[in-house]
Amino acid sequence: MSWSLAVLAATALLQTIVFVASRSVALLADLIHNGGDALTAIPLGIAFLLRSERGERRAGYAVVVAIFASATVAGIQAIDRLIHPQRLNYLVPLVLAGIFGFAGNELAARVRLRAGTRLHSPALVADGQHARVDGVVSLGVVIAAAAVAAGLPRADPILGLAITALILRITLQAWRTIRAGNID
Ligand SMILES: [Zn+2]
Repeated sequence: MSWSLAVLAATALLQTIVFVASRSVALLADLIHNGGDALTAIPLGIAFLLRSERGERRAGYAVVVAIFASATVAGIQAIDRLIHPQRLNYLVPLVLAGIFGFAGNELAARVRLRAGTRLHSPALVADGQHARVDGVVSLGVVIAAAAVAAGLPRADPILGLAITALILRITLQAWRTIRAGNID
């Protein structure tokens, strides 16, 4: 399990470097999404360490607020770029970043699905299915890069907005889960 986290961390680092170079808002949204997913694992860890349900809930709310704020930043950037389309730099590294995002998430999905089936853990299987969807989201970055290369600069912010909407949906679900009090 830990090496699948290492793969995701390496992917995030690579995607950050490519985002700084390319300024793709679709990649920014994908990065925030993956970062948000990683953050949602923290409240569980805190609850485990402190054996405190209240600590877990408080950490959970902090994470949801952090993800919501990041999603807002991504959304504002995407809308700004929609109004002022910009040519993207480094399209080939951008395509590679999307492919790496897909591969990293797909790898994590396979590890979790296999372990989940073996351990009869519905939570782990759900985690694996989530990672598989995230892989498809990362492919959105590849589509954005291809469309921009084909002369459609607005494809990048449009996909950025689509990914932002997905982050907001996940944020809302996380909020409801914490309020209901059963984070697992
Ligand atoms: Zn996700």
